[in-house]
Amino acid sequence: MDFTKLCTFETFQQVWRHYGHGRDLREVVEEEFTRIKGITYLDHAAATLYPESLIRDYCKDISSNVYGNPHSLNPSSKLTSDVVERVRYRVLQHFNTTPEEYSVIFTSGCTASLKLLAESFPWRPQTENEAGSRFCFLTDSHTSVVGMRGVTSACGAVALPVSPQEVENKAKDDIKGEDIICQTPHLFCYPAQSNFSGRKYPLSHVKGIQTRRLYPACDHHGRWLVLLDAASHVSCSPLNLQDCPADFIPISFYKMFGFPTGLGALLVHNNAASILKKTYFGGGTAAAYLVGEDYYVHAANISDRFEDGTVSFLDIIAVNHGFEALYRITGGMHSIQQHTFGLARYTYMLLSCLCHGNGQPVAQIYTEGQFASPTTQGAIMSFNLKDSGGQIIGYSQVDRMASLFNIHVRTGCFCNTGACQFFLGLSDQQMRRNLQAGHVCGDNMDLVDGRPTGSVRVSFGYMSTFEDCQKFLKFVADCFVEKPVTVDQERLEKLKTTTAASQGLKRNTPIEIIHGGVCKEEQIEKPTEPSLEGLGHRESNGTEEIHRLTNIYIYPIKSCGAQEVDNWPVGPLGFLYDRCWMVVNGNGVCLSQKRTPRLCLISPQVRLSSNELILQAAGMDTISLPLENTAQMHSSCQVSQSKVCGDRVETVDCGEKAASWFSEFLGQPCRLIRLNPEFTRNMKKRGASGAAPSTSLSLVNEAQFLIINRASVTLIQKLMSSRQDGSEGDELLDAQNVISRFRANLVVTGVEPFEEDNWSHLIIGDTRFVVTGQCGRCQMVGVDQETGLRTKEPLMSLSVYRKGKVTFGVYLTREQAESSTPAHVLSVGSLVRPDMQSLK
Ligand SMILES: *Cc1c(COP(=O)(O)O)cnc(C)c1O
Repeated sequence: MDFTKLCTFETFQQVWRHYGHGRDLREVVEEEFTRIKGITYLDHAAATLYPESLIRDYCKDISSNVYGNPHSLNPSSKLTSDVVERVRYRVLQHFNTTPEEYSVIFTSGCTASLKLLAESFPWRPQTENEAGSRFCFLTDSHTSVVGMRGVTSACGAVALPVSPQEVENKAKDDIKGEDIICQTPHLFCYPAQSNFSGRKYPLSHVKGIQTRRLYPACDHHGRWLVLLDAASHVSCSPLNLQDCPADFIPISFYKMFGFPTGLGALLVHNNAASILKKTYFGGGTAAAYLVGEDYYVHAANISDRFEDGTVSFLDIIAVNHGFEALYRITGGMHSIQQHTFGLARYTYMLLSCLCHGNGQPVAQIYTEGQFASPTTQGAIMSFNLKDSGGQIIGYSQVDRMASLFNIHVRTGCFCNTGACQFFLGLSDQQMRRNLQAGHVCGDNMDLVDGRPTGSVRVSFGYMSTFEDCQKFLKFVADCFVEKPVTVDQERLEKLKTTTAASQGLKRNTPIEIIHGGVCKEEQIEKPTEPSLEGLGHRESNGTEEIHRLTNIYIYPIKSCGAQEVDNWPVGPLGFLYDRCWMVVNGNGVCLSQKRTPRLCLISPQVRLSSNELILQAAGMDTISLPLENTAQMHSSCQVSQSKVCGDRVETVDCGEKAASWFSEFLGQPCRLIRLNPEFTRNMKKRGASGAAPSTSLSLVNEAQFLIINRASVTLIQKLMSSRQDGSEGDELLDAQNVISRFRANLVVTGVEPFEEDNWSHLIIGDTRFVVTGQCGRCQMVGVDQETGLRTKEPLMSLSVYRKGKVTFGVYLTREQAESSTPAHVLSVGSLVRPDMQSLK
């Protein structure tokens, strides 16, 4: 029995009883979420998916009703006000409360709610005589909470991070009633659910803090108010404000319904409303004011008072449809909680028992509990994967491979540095060192000195299916487990029993035991020590190694087909006309093969002799565009700004003829644009050695030239054929096919595979180059450049072989030429002389 056979619904039923909201979930997906076919979406904690009926009903609503500005008094405005009020009521109802107890202030999201509160809270400064206000927040908080301390400190109040352990360890039973007079307001903030680990913090903390029985409230006199950050919690769990009457609750609606975005709310307990102060006042918030005098009377109603300007009323109307769809499909939050928790629990159990062939566990899961109950754990799991030697595999690699399998996960620290530091054991000092090493929040620098800077997170939504978990688990087993896959049976059984009792699960027939925990699965050749025989092995007979340039390719239009040439001039930005043009969609966004693989079927050819760019594609008329037409470009064509790899570039449009040709072939409105010849884009400074400081780039992503080594291609081919086990379905790829996928400018006959990784300089013919870095690879190399179809190879084999960083080929920049140097031309057949040290 193997791991795949363990990943069955039967096993699921042994670990959790509730699934699918009493419906056939596949039908729900079929009806409401057709767009996720083929995708395993596991990033619901970042944004969940909206059902089609929500959008349909909403569109019908706003296209048949006339909704005016709610601040007017005419009938269309009245309609809007009524619906908005109804939505407020519905929001309160959802959290089991009423307008008598709570008010809803609509904001642009949870973060805006937190900022609003920070700016309205009556912070008292710390003085010689007074301790001042405290702002305490749990270290496991979202950045948007921690950021409130910027406001707090500016007001002279004290911000105090508190670890979860501190709160739990310092509960007091009785408080002295001596400070009824002390009314200094303090604020305590904690997340109902950690967006990092999915841990749910006790909702009873709310009353504990308010009544000063819990640290740190018990240490400081005054009035303690509780800010319960429910943004993550409410996406999959019910929240009953009768049980936990927090004073302030911020939420974002897209985390509950997927739509609308840009709308959230701050729920304010009416008892706490009066302490909030209003400084700025915008339209709709005043009962009266004078222009000539500092006279302002705020609106009596707390919602009116804090909703500056016109609320996003059409989005608020969408919330109504959000609730409708949510309850119609699932029956309510209780069912959603049961369903999503089950998926998380099942995934946790199997992943935590999954082992390499040598018995080493594959995953380090960041959790404090064992996914025992939905009251302590939400539908979020963070982890890092480890190789069989126990070394962490960087999250970027996991992310990249997941993309290849159409599995969408989130990686990094998820805007929660506190939790990240806690679980990854990163000291403040280490965090500073990581920054120095160039790591910033949200990038893909996943390891610094072999230690992780973040993790991988999977999270579930009410429409997530058992099959999603299965796909994810199989993906981990296929891509990251050193075969044979094994399972820690003992642990699995223990996990099942430790918590089975609490769910009333009948443990009747024990599941089949995997004897010895070893299964006979795809015994692929261990690729860690590839045999190098016949792969252009170095001939150590003392003669000089020979490297020769065998191919030159240019890619006139970014992400379109290659043009192979025998010799080609080198311009100031790389090869002349290489990535000089790009195709953008109706929104002006650059198209790439990542999402539009058909681009590779377009074959552009630059004809230097006749000064034209020829465009060809199957089934299309061949057209020709002028290579240079600067004068015309400036008079008749639009200059516009685009982005390439985060860099701003100035471009000019190439006119209607090209636009309609591309739109027809790609089946969507698009335009051809080219780099404005007068614009200079400088290469970003990178850590790489010797990068010329002021290198200019075309519309390429990273660098002027990319070179690959045939010996490395041969090795990858060999690895691919050794991995062929029938399950992949990919055909064996010939060398030319593999070469074309890597989209290099230069192909060289190497001597040893991956020797290029160590090159620092190159001389090709008589042109000198500096190596500026290695080329990181993603699922784009899966696009067969002949057919536009995607395969998992060669990324699979490359990734297995290149543990940690999946790179292939190196970037080159031409060494700063003297102004007197004549124009260079590179030719196929030229001698290539690489050097591992500086040539200077
Ligand atoms: C998402 C989230 C936030 C921030 O919400 P935005 O919608 O980005 O403003 C704050 N806290 C937690 C716990 C979250 O999950």
